[in-house]
Amino acid sequence: MDFTLSKEQRDIQKAAREFAVGEFLPEKAQEFDRNETFDLSIWRKACELGFVGVFIDEKYGGAGLGFMEHCLITEEFWAVDAGMGNAVITATFGSELLNLFGTEEQKQKYLPPLVQGEAIMGCAITEPDAGSDVTGAITSAVKDKDEWVINGSKMFITNGTIAKYMNVFCLTDPDHKDRHQRHSFFIVETDRKGFQANKLHGKLGIRANDTAEVSFSNVRIPASNLVGQLGYGFRHLMAFFNLTRLHICAMAVGIARAALEEASNHIKKRRQFGVPLASFQGLQFKIAEMATMIRAARNLYYEAAWLTDHGKMEHAVTAMAKWFSGQVAVKCADEALQMHGGYGYIDEYKVQRIYRDAKIVEIYEGTKEIEKTIVAKNILRI
Ligand SMILES: Cc1cc2nc3c(=O)[nH]c(=O)nc-3n(C[C@H](O)[C@H](O)[C@H](O)COP(=O)(O)OP(=O)(O)OC[C@H]3O[C@@H](n4cnc5c(N)ncnc54)[C@H](O)[C@@H]3O)c2cc1C
Repeated sequence: MDFTLSKEQRDIQKAAREFAVGEFLPEKAQEFDRNETFDLSIWRKACELGFVGVFIDEKYGGAGLGFMEHCLITEEFWAVDAGMGNAVITATFGSELLNLFGTEEQKQKYLPPLVQGEAIMGCAITEPDAGSDVTGAITSAVKDKDEWVINGSKMFITNGTIAKYMNVFCLTDPDHKDRHQRHSFFIVETDRKGFQANKLHGKLGIRANDTAEVSFSNVRIPASNLVGQLGYGFRHLMAFFNLTRLHICAMAVGIARAALEEASNHIKKRRQFGVPLASFQGLQFKIAEMATMIRAARNLYYEAAWLTDHGKMEHAVTAMAKWFSGQVAVKCADEALQMHGGYGYIDEYKVQRIYRDAKIVEIYEGTKEIEKTIVAKNILRI
């Protein structure tokens, strides 16, 4: 296994870094974080420059690259600003499912607008009473002649109020004896009658990114909007998560890098006891530990991405990478804030935002506990 990046991959990484530095300006990042807003022209620009949906096939307007390249872009974006980085990089969230299981017609219809900056997507799985246990989802889809009728509500949906369409995980066979065969995915346009989205306010972090509670009241969609196989929703979801969890790892490593950079800059400038803080061995140890953890987390997610892109995907390796990189992000953010002392507690300082933004990577798309459960079950074979 060789994780050396190719010249093309290094070029993508560099271009993504330059884009993020040029567009995710500190004053904008602070404004969007405080006001829970985002300027979608930045997302459109990222689309024009080809940073959005690079894993989508060239046939549908994407770059036809691997998920590794998507991760490289994600890491660079999050290393500059998590809130804005997330708003741009998650605009295609859900397209991975279409890529894997969509019909040719669905791919032609829904994928090109995502890379052309014409549509934002979402993926609605979580419900008020079904989070880690996705099989508890009760939003229902009932067949009525050549249509499906959807009823229910979904919680914490990324891009909920701005998505043009979203994949929705629905209960289609509540009495099936195997609870893993009770659900199916559907693509739902958000301008359909009966769809409603309410933006959630007061998030701890990634506040530039839209998150909403969405509801479906007798929303009718054509039978052709079924994504993948009927009753295979859970299996499709696991395959989807194996991809999207990789980009969460990239987010985690990106924000951990940002924490290390902020901490290093601060302790070199700030003087106490007549010397720069950086001259104290206790703080040097923290820097060494952060840098080592970041490298280890990156190597682990590179391995998981490499396995996936080479058709050798291992759920347990992706799960290891996800919980570990999440822990590294949270630990690095904590240490970076600590090294800022009281200044780190004030929102004038970027490290405060990093501290708040980092926590999400241990929660969404499988909490750290769920990831560890996947790893343990794989080892124990239970
Ligand atoms: C900002 C944000 C964006 C999100 N975006 C989306 C989105 O776009 N689409 C979407 O569908 N969802 C989204 N989510 C939802 C997210 O995926 C869930 O919050 C997450 O999966 C956890 O579910 P829960 O919140 O219901 O927590 P719960 O499942 O109630 O878990 C609570 C705690 O119990 C622990 N726990 C639960 N079961 C076990 C177990 N078996 N063993 C050990 N510990 C356990 C969990 O790890 C957690 O610590 C988003 C969430 C947030 C905060």
